[in-house]
Amino acid sequence: MPPVNAFAAVSATAPLQPIIIERREVGPRDVLIDIKYTGICHSDIHEVRGDWGPCPYPLAPGHEITGVVAAVGAEVTRFAAGDRVGVGCLVGSCGKCDACLRGQEQYCSVKAIWTYGDTDVDGTVTQGGYATQIVVTDRFVLHVPDALPLDTAAPLLCAGITTYAPLRRWGVGPGKKVAVVGLGGLGHIAVKIAHALGAEVTVLSQTLSKKEAGLALGAVDYRATGDPATFQELAGAFDLILSTVSAPLPMDSYLSMLTVGGVMVNVGAAPEESGMHLRLLNRQRILTGSLIGGIAETQQMLDFCGEHGIGAEVEVIAAEQINEAYERVLASDVRYRFVIDVATLA
Ligand code: NAP
Ligand code: ZN
Ligand code: ZN
Repeated sequence: MPPVNAFAAVSATAPLQPIIIERREVGPRDVLIDIKYTGICHSDIHEVRGDWGPCPYPLAPGHEITGVVAAVGAEVTRFAAGDRVGVGCLVGSCGKCDACLRGQEQYCSVKAIWTYGDTDVDGTVTQGGYATQIVVTDRFVLHVPDALPLDTAAPLLCAGITTYAPLRRWGVGPGKKVAVVGLGGLGHIAVKIAHALGAEVTVLSQTLSKKEAGLALGAVDYRATGDPATFQELAGAFDLILSTVSAPLPMDSYLSMLTVGGVMVNVGAAPEESGMHLRLLNRQRILTGSLIGGIAETQQMLDFCGEHGIGAEVEVIAAEQINEAYERVLASDVRYRFVIDVATLA
């Protein structure tokens, strides 16, 4: 394979910069993808800034990838050159353990291989979607429905599946009252999907600054968590609360807004606070977490979004604007996903 243009972090503090990376030769079960768009997930920022521990530099992040198949290996039957495809957070798993057989490759008990910053089967560090091409085992490649443009579909590959999976898992549908905490990349797609599933959705945001836009996504109510009255007025109100917040949250106050047997799911990747046991046991409330979703469910989510016309609200940027975009994500100043036009890397 010829070298590939990419945009990478070289340390926790330096701006991301253009680099050249290697991709493996296309093996019998591999798909070579010309990347068109890659979303900027807050996880990219956590990872390259070392929020979750040491990061292997140089590292091109990006796990919200859409593009077009350029070539396939001899044994690949589900994809052909020209297909519109996506790749999310996963590029490998054992395929044999209980979790893999259940279609939950992300919980593989042997080893899930993450799209970037992980050790691949050949010992190299995986490099993500801030790049012009990627080679991925066919089992981890998704079909993007024709109804979805590739730019607004890209964020579905992480933000979409991460919110769709727990909304389905906990039975969100007509008659259910759902609160989405944090209206960023994950949060805004959670609102669209929960609304499309028939639930009554409330946004819980730090301020009311995005209220109009949030209601336009399908929410019926929009409250500021910066106002203590919100927690009193909404006590016991929700069947499910989905937190997509990228910083530690005072979970205890949020648990009070659940009804009896209500479920609080956290998908935000910041460490969680304690002091919540009474809120849980008095009303048999459930606090749980969730990690992306399996490959079959990711395809189900893409098909659902295709049927319901759900894409992300995106701001498409050139590669040279990535560092500025990171600062805006950290300042909660994004509506609601930055997506890199990968043609600007070529
Ligand atoms: P994002 O676009 O930055 O959105 C996060 C939102 O959280 C912000 O827009 C803001 O919403 C709210 N927020 C930020 N700081 C806050 C604070 N100090 N207190 C209260 N609210 C705050 O990030 P994202 O890409 O959606 O990702 C969200 C989190 O999910 C990240 O931690 C990411 O790593 C994690 N994640 C987890 C998974 C998984 O599988 N579990 C998958 C993908 C991402 P408002 O402006 O509305 O208040
Ligand atoms: Zn992500
Ligand atoms: Zn496995």
